[in-house]
Amino acid sequence: MTALPDAIRVFERGWLSSNNVLLVGADDTALIDSGYLTHAPQTLALVRHGLQGRRLDRLLNTHLHSDHCGGNAALQAHYGCHTSIPAAEADKVRRWDSEALSFKATGQQCERFGFDATIAPGELLTLGGLAWQALGAPGHDPHSLIFYCPAERILISADALWENGFGIIFPELDGASGFAETRATLELIGGLDVRLVIPGHGAPFGDVAGALRRAHSRLDYLMADPLRNAQNAIKVLLKFLLLERQSIALADVPALLTAMPVFDAANRRFLRQGPEALGQWAVEQLLRAGAARVEGEHLLNEA
Ligand SMILES: [Zn+2]
Repeated sequence: MTALPDAIRVFERGWLSSNNVLLVGADDTALIDSGYLTHAPQTLALVRHGLQGRRLDRLLNTHLHSDHCGGNAALQAHYGCHTSIPAAEADKVRRWDSEALSFKATGQQCERFGFDATIAPGELLTLGGLAWQALGAPGHDPHSLIFYCPAERILISADALWENGFGIIFPELDGASGFAETRATLELIGGLDVRLVIPGHGAPFGDVAGALRRAHSRLDYLMADPLRNAQNAIKVLLKFLLLERQSIALADVPALLTAMPVFDAANRRFLRQGPEALGQWAVEQLLRAGAARVEGEHLLNEA
């Protein structure tokens, strides 16, 4: 029950780059999400190989985090593909407001791209010859979309639902609401008839009920003490920097963390620690999780 239809190919990319979903129909081709900037050449190679000589007609983003739209500029340069982004992000992308767009807030990179159209929740799309519904999935990101194909009972869930959990609930970090939205999004997904989820990270999976159960219980855990969401965010953001750079001087960790406005906001609200102490705490967390190791004066990425 977890087989993909011929029209859908999933490039599972890991954590620095989100997964990419290539849809190849008789009359149209489309890609959902484009990975991180530094992986753009690999994204292009995967897409070219998957298209086997066909053009990429459309590019769509579930949401505009750097690991989901970092390949947009390269794909647009190569294919001139029609590009659709979530409607609520249009003004920010038009102005390329890197502060409002989260790239600056998280210390992440994204090459500037444009767009041709926007997608609002509720819209219907034909991608790869299949009919899809775009649904609003706020929580991790207030403007995220997910895509549901009723005929195939497939959900492209972005970072709203993974096999084990979901993405950082960013809005809560600077005092906006995100927990309630996450709950509503999980309930929305629970109301869909889904046989296969293609998540933003990790392999496609069939046990939707199990994933929803784990996600609800993780949400309960985070809501019981919002400090946990802030701590998780700091760990994940440091790990992301490490994935990007592979090696960070231990002495640079406090400054790198405080340079991220999202981190600063979370620290002021929840953690209230000096940068040195917090940097040390974050490093210890990654070491304990086996996500990093120390060699001499450097923190190194551990796969
Ligand atoms: Zn995201």
